[in-house]
Amino acid sequence: MSATAAAARRGVAAAPRRLSILGATGSIGTSTLAVLEQQRAAFTVEAVTANSNAAKLAAIARQTGARVAAIADPSAYGGLKAALAGTAIIAMAGPDAIVEAAGRPADLVVAAIVGAAGLAPTMAAVRAGATIALANKECLVSAGTLFMAAARRNGVHVLPVDSEHNAIFQLIEHRDVAAIERITVTASGGPFRKWTTEQMGAATPADALRHPTWSMGAKITIDSATLMNKGLELIEAHHLFGQPSEKLAVLVHPQSIVHGLVAMRDGYVLAALSPPDMRTPIANCLAWPESSGAAVRSLDLAAIAKLEFEEPDASRFPALRLAREALETGGWATNMLSAANEIAVAAFLGGEVGFLEIAGIVEDTLGRAAGSLQRDPTTVEEALTLDGHARRLASDLVTRYARRH
Ligand code: NAD
Ligand code: MG
Repeated sequence: MSATAAAARRGVAAAPRRLSILGATGSIGTSTLAVLEQQRAAFTVEAVTANSNAAKLAAIARQTGARVAAIADPSAYGGLKAALAGTAIIAMAGPDAIVEAAGRPADLVVAAIVGAAGLAPTMAAVRAGATIALANKECLVSAGTLFMAAARRNGVHVLPVDSEHNAIFQLIEHRDVAAIERITVTASGGPFRKWTTEQMGAATPADALRHPTWSMGAKITIDSATLMNKGLELIEAHHLFGQPSEKLAVLVHPQSIVHGLVAMRDGYVLAALSPPDMRTPIANCLAWPESSGAAVRSLDLAAIAKLEFEEPDASRFPALRLAREALETGGWATNMLSAANEIAVAAFLGGEVGFLEIAGIVEDTLGRAAGSLQRDPTTVEEALTLDGHARRLASDLVTRYARRH
């Protein structure tokens, strides 16, 4: 029985748990704050972090009573300090400050930075022994073997925030892993589910940012349009659930109601359903190992009436194939896939390259990796160095593709 449950049984309030939120100003950060509002007494907030929006970070720090607010952009320090004037909240700035804030003593750290920028801070939280509520899937794509090994070494629980993985986590917790035949993550199919390749070739950032079922940050929304997000999620599932590629599947499900499926050897397929609202998986992570009872809208299946499923189209969405191949190749390949994808997505959002070129840049980056690059990183530093190499290769390719664009 957990300390909270034991305390509840004795009729005494459990001591509040210390919570840190990395990426507090983002989409997951905002949903986390909404969940936190519903259970204010259960937590004290240790650190909140953001990239560059000092005013928003300061407002969050004030609202949550955080002890520390850390901002990655060093030039935002003055603004942050000024916005926190008159409070006891410690202001810090620079990438190292994010790592320091992440490693401060906490019971639970919500890791919601986007991209490989979250790797060093989240690793610092793992090393400090906090339970990790992991939204930042790029940590696992970039350095999953190292990340999970560090979690095991430090006796740290990694709780998936990603909706599909959170659903699957609900389904397989306390089950015999050997009895699992297949794990399926569902995909909405994104805004281009029914678009031809020619149409996608002319797609603008605004088209790609119009997600049919989820409201999220820009990078993951573009990843959802290319289906790279589902590819990243296969790699994420591999590390979280210890299953090989052949036991992991993707199924397109446009309603985003069924988030994960687990096929058992006995013929049963277990499914977890909920409305598409990130507050559900976040509340689960905040409450774990208790159940959440969060006040989110309940599911009305009669109103939804119809749940559809279809195979993903590998020819129109090559990113999914690239991610699967990288998973089967090894840690160096998934690391470079993720880094190249970050560069390509930023170039697409910046109007430098077209939508179809995102997958092209990722494929060509992996194609150019030779020699020592094709070695799985053995430390986080090596993972970040490899990530840097992949970014440079991908940036060169952006310049070439941009000339054609
Ligand atoms: P977002 O862009 O809305 O927010 C990202 C956060 O990270 C912001 O607080 C930003 O300030 C911070 N950040 C960005 N770059 C940084 C840097 N270099 N250093 C420090 N901080 C930095 O993104 P999001 O949609 O909230 O996604 C966050 C993570 O969660 C991603 O890995 C995403 O794949 C994952 N995720 C998101 C959703 C969702 O619904 N939004 C669902 C599942 C998984
Ligand atoms: Mg997801």
